[in-house]
This record gives sequence, C-alpha cells and structure tokens, in this order.
Amino acid sequence: MRVLTAVKALSQTRFGVILGRRFSVIVVPEGDSKVNRFRIHSGFIKTLFCCCFLAGGLLAFFSYSYVNDRIDRNELLRLRMTTSQQHQTIQRLVIDLDEIHQEMNSFAETEARVRQLADLDAAPQGLPIAVGGLPEARPVDTIDEIQRQINQLQVDIDLRRQSQENVRNLLNDQVSLSRATPKGWPTKGWLTSYFGMRKSPFTGRRVMHEGLDIAANIGTPVIATADGIVARTSYSSGYGKMVVLDHGYGYRTIFGHNSKILVKSGQQIKRGDIIAKVGNTGRSTGSHLHYELRLNGVPIDPRKTL
Ligand SMILES: [Zn+2]
Repeated sequence: MRVLTAVKALSQTRFGVILGRRFSVIVVPEGDSKVNRFRIHSGFIKTLFCCCFLAGGLLAFFSYSYVNDRIDRNELLRLRMTTSQQHQTIQRLVIDLDEIHQEMNSFAETEARVRQLADLDAAPQGLPIAVGGLPEARPVDTIDEIQRQINQLQVDIDLRRQSQENVRNLLNDQVSLSRATPKGWPTKGWLTSYFGMRKSPFTGRRVMHEGLDIAANIGTPVIATADGIVARTSYSSGYGKMVVLDHGYGYRTIFGHNSKILVKSGQQIKRGDIIAKVGNTGRSTGSHLHYELRLNGVPIDPRKTL
C-alpha cells in the first residue's frame, strides 16, 4: 500500500501560505483495490504541530526533572552514608576517649597508692585524683565536647607526668636515705659494752662510752652498715687502727681497734662491703670492734640500728 499526500493548491509551496488550506491524503493499495482519499484541514495540522510541540516540551521537562531527581537522590544517599560513617567515627572516638579516661583513672589510683605506701605527700593541687569518665549515653553530635575533653586530657597528662616525676624523685631520695642510713651488725660477735656512761676499764672513772663494743675473734670481717665513702683511715692511741665512713645525710660510722684496714680514704663503699678486720689495736682489753654512730657529729646509740 502506498500513501500519497497531495496538496490541492499546487501552485502555493510556502508553509505560511499552505496553512488555512486543505490537504488530501491518498492511499493507494497494491493491486486493483479502490484508492482511498482523506482530506485534512490545515487547522488540524496546526493543532497537531502544537500538540507535538507541547508533548515534546513536557517530555523534555519531565526528563530533566527525572534526571535531576536521580542526581539529588544519589547525592542524598551519599550524604546519608557519609553522615552514618561520621556518626560511627564519633561513637568510636567517644569509646576511645572513655578508655583513655579510665587509663588516667588507673594511673591516678596507682600513684595515690604509691604515695600512700611510701608515705609521700598527696598529689599536687590542680591534679585530679581520679578523672571522671564520659556519661554512658552521650549525644552523637559532640565534636566540640570531644575536643574539650581531649584538651583537658592533655592538661591532665602534663600534670600527671610532673606528679610522677615528683614521686620518682621523692622515692629516689627515700632509697638514697635508706641506703645511707646505718643498719645491721658491723661484725659477727656479741655485745660486751653498751652506749652510755660506764666505768672505764683503764681509769676506773665513770666516762661516756660513745659506741658499742662487739667482741669477735681477730680477723673477723668488719662490714659497712650503709653506703658511703671512706672519710678517714688512721691510727690513734685510743681507737687503734680506725676507719671513719661518711654516709651523707649527717651520718658517720666509726670502726676502732681493727687489726687490718682494707679500704682507702675517699673510696666508695656499699652496705655489706668488708672494710677491715677485727683486732685489738689501741686502748683495748681484748679482741673486739668499737662501733660508733654519729648523726651531725653527735654520738647516738647504734644498738637501735642493729
Ligand atoms: Zn668501745
């Protein structure tokens, strides 16, 4: 079948002139069938053009809206995903921050126990004894709060570091003082004369005995009762061969009547080091060690330190 469109007014070809006229559409079937002819008014063509134009406009508008909508929806999904990830990140930060707070609390408690055990002063003012943790149900939009907590933690950590340095120094002082404080027996033997007033075995008069006499066999090791340095080794008619140790903190120990001195002046000494051997030199009635303890130059009874 062939469709032919013929224009009645063949002499007119311009579109503007064609409008207002009528057209004929001739349908020519194959074979001998009858030819069909349809007449179309130009108004119908005009209306058809307008409808097509309007439909095209609507199609373009809805297509544009649809594409924009898809773009907006994708952007919305992306933003939702980003928001969800940020929410999870904030939650993790809140948990991490809470764990740091708990660690700080643990440090504070440990330091408090050490201070108590070592009989040290309490932590300096301004340093919290225990840092409070975050509340359980904290809102998710707490970036500012998290930042504030981090800033506070940095301050607390600096203070804690200073406080622990203070504890370390105090403990070192205590350890040094403990090592420098005479303690224990200076030789293996038995007490034969105590600290205090006594009748002199040489003159018979009552005189002050400023140390302990510990009887022991000649050659028995004499040991230092605290860390220190050898202040002096000498011989005197009274003390015989003597060793004087300086322990710092005002403590000095004196060891008299030795048979042999094993250290030299200025030598570093540790508690337990053998410094001499028991003897009977000087003013002595038998083999023994005369052991004196002085604090700031004043003789004190060494018996309480044995
Ligand atoms: Zn004595």
